[in-house]
Amino acid sequence: MHFNSKLPDVGTTIFTVMSRRALAEGALNIGQGFPDYPIDPRLAAALIDAVGEGHNQYAPMEGAVELREQISAKLHTSYGRRFDPLTEITVTCGGTEALYDAIQAVVGAGDEVVIFDPAYDAYEPAVRLAGGRCIRLALAPPAFRFDWDRVRRALSDRTRLIIVNSPQNPSCTVATLEDLDALAAVIRDRPIMLLADEVYEHVLYDGRRHASVLAHAELRERSFAVFSFGKTLHATGWRIGYCVAPQLLTRELRKVHQFNSFSIVAPMQYAIARYLKAHPESWTGLSAFFQAKRDLLVSRLRGSGFEPIPAAGTYFQLVDYGALSGDTDMDFADRLIREAKIATIPLSPFYAAPPAMTLLRLCIAKSDATLVTAADHLCAFAAKQARNR
Ligand code: GLN
Repeated sequence: MHFNSKLPDVGTTIFTVMSRRALAEGALNIGQGFPDYPIDPRLAAALIDAVGEGHNQYAPMEGAVELREQISAKLHTSYGRRFDPLTEITVTCGGTEALYDAIQAVVGAGDEVVIFDPAYDAYEPAVRLAGGRCIRLALAPPAFRFDWDRVRRALSDRTRLIIVNSPQNPSCTVATLEDLDALAAVIRDRPIMLLADEVYEHVLYDGRRHASVLAHAELRERSFAVFSFGKTLHATGWRIGYCVAPQLLTRELRKVHQFNSFSIVAPMQYAIARYLKAHPESWTGLSAFFQAKRDLLVSRLRGSGFEPIPAAGTYFQLVDYGALSGDTDMDFADRLIREAKIATIPLSPFYAAPPAMTLLRLCIAKSDATLVTAADHLCAFAAKQARNR
């Protein structure tokens, strides 16, 4: 049968590819972003309780009310504003579903969506499936700063949405308040909406504070803001995310959500609701927690030939291997899996037109022992590489 793929050029995501390769080669996986240490045992106990108490049937389509109330309280603590749990908050299957729903809700045939490369790989396929087209603006290493004049020039009458991811995966840069003001000025008087992927909202380093669109009076009126308990509670496998948006946008998002995932795994929602109620401060130490891990890895790698690029946020760390090899990042990452037994994430798959660069992304959401072992492997590989040169 002749079959035309809707996404002929899309393969398997680099995260899955690298995790599979790590398993096949017996390599330590510091590529795909997920913790390798246990969740809070009190959260695990809350899940067992939720199942035992009978939370085993469909949760409400929009999310368990108890959880949405806790999310609202948490947002108030973080961003000083009350969002209506009933009309402005929707629980989704991870951040990924929220991104997809928001894109399907607002992007139509021929619409343009501005995204910033290196862009998280879920954005473009969702835009294309909605019939839209991405305008990809590259952020240049090593600072990966936004250029709002360039954004202004990239807009057209077809521009419908801008996707801003901050803290940004995989570049580890963050948008500042000035960035949000500049963005607001760029889209003022234009019918452009914003999709703010803020799943790393609690992981900013060196005293930085997260500039959320929800705390920005002008931007929040036209934003879908996406968050993730996978990141905040170290439980990526639970697949619980949520989207915060004004009532009008939430209504449209839910039209997609109800026919996409319909409703999200019930006991996880009740467990998180109960956990947040009992431990409302559980997430407040995340920046310090991950900064210590970043510093541990960076201190072990500095001078090895894997040069750390300063990271402002996310639970990733970029390293530049340019002193060790001129291989492409895909080839070099593959060599690291085979020869150093370390799986990483190359950066070029996140660009439409990758600039010349020799960067790899490492995940620091790992036990200290894993980070030390990974650094040892990388340093040993680098030393061998230098000897053979
Ligand atoms: N968010 C994870 C990362 O950046 C990947 C999740 C996935 O594999 N889709 O590594």
